[in-house]
Order: sequence, then C-alpha cells, then structure tokens
Amino acid sequence: MYPKVVVFDLDYTLWPCWCDTHISPPVKAKSTDIVIDKRKFELSFYKDVPKIFEELIANDVLIVSASRTCAPAVARKLLTLLHINDQPAIDHFDFMEWGTFSKTKHIKAAMDRIKQEMDLDIPFEEVILFDDEWRNKDVESIGVHFAHLPNEDVGLTYDIFQKALFSYREKKQL
Ligand SMILES: [Mg+2]
Repeated sequence: MYPKVVVFDLDYTLWPCWCDTHISPPVKAKSTDIVIDKRKFELSFYKDVPKIFEELIANDVLIVSASRTCAPAVARKLLTLLHINDQPAIDHFDFMEWGTFSKTKHIKAAMDRIKQEMDLDIPFEEVILFDDEWRNKDVESIGVHFAHLPNEDVGLTYDIFQKALFSYREKKQL
C-alpha cells in the first residue's frame, strides 16, 4: 500500500545544496545526471532519488514538490536539466508549490489543486512529506505523515524511503 501523494522538499532532500545560495547561474547540463554552474560546481540528485521516483511512478503515486527556495528559476532549471527515467525530472512532478510559506500551506495548496484539477479528494492522512528540516514536522498537525532526512550527506535514501512507507502503513492499520 502506497500513499496517494508524496511531497518532496528540494534542498538537502533531493540534492545536496541550497539552490538559492550554492548555485551560480547560468547552469548547464554536463550529462543527464549532472549539472554544472558558472563556478564549475557540479550537482546531481542524491543517488537513490531516481530509483525512488521510478517506484512511485510505477505505483501511480502523485508527486509534489514543496519548497521555500528563494531561487525558483534556478530550481526549475535544475529539475529540467537533471533527468529521471530518461525524462526531465520536472515532468514527473504532478504539482509544484514553492514560495516563502510553511510546508503545511504548500501541502494544503497542492491538495486543493489536486481536488480542483484532478477531481480527487485525498485526505491529508494519505500524504507523506520527505524533508530534511525537523521544524516541518508541524505538517503532522493536519494529518500528513512526516519523514525526516537527518543526514545531509546522504539526503533521501532508499532505506529512509522504505522505513517511511513502513511506518505510514503501520499507522494506517491502527
Ligand atoms: Mg530542505
């Protein structure tokens, strides 16, 4: 049993940097897996990210990004240049909610759009947020399952992903 929606933070969740402070545009593709910025800083997704996306896509899970980035144009460029499953990563996101709001607001906005645009009324209890910042655990106040990523060196790992699915399923069976 998969959640209906998985929400990903961006910085230190999908990639190991703050894209609004560590990246100096312009950004170019070095390959479909690596981007390189003006100062020759190279960036990729954390290594398990493609595998996790492929599993979610195969199981019809809606994918949302929620980010407080101050550089949405850079983030969008990174998601366009970096590929997952032979497609720009950005194509795999059903909805993107970015801006200086809380993750709770981002998720509420995404769920409203899912309801309006897809006619799907999904409860917050069917949503998992993956995020490196502990303060975003406050999404649990609306019922979202929070999966914390404690180590910025490894970010979102397959092990963390599986453990989050396991605890999500356990909670659902209570
Ligand atoms: Mg983050």
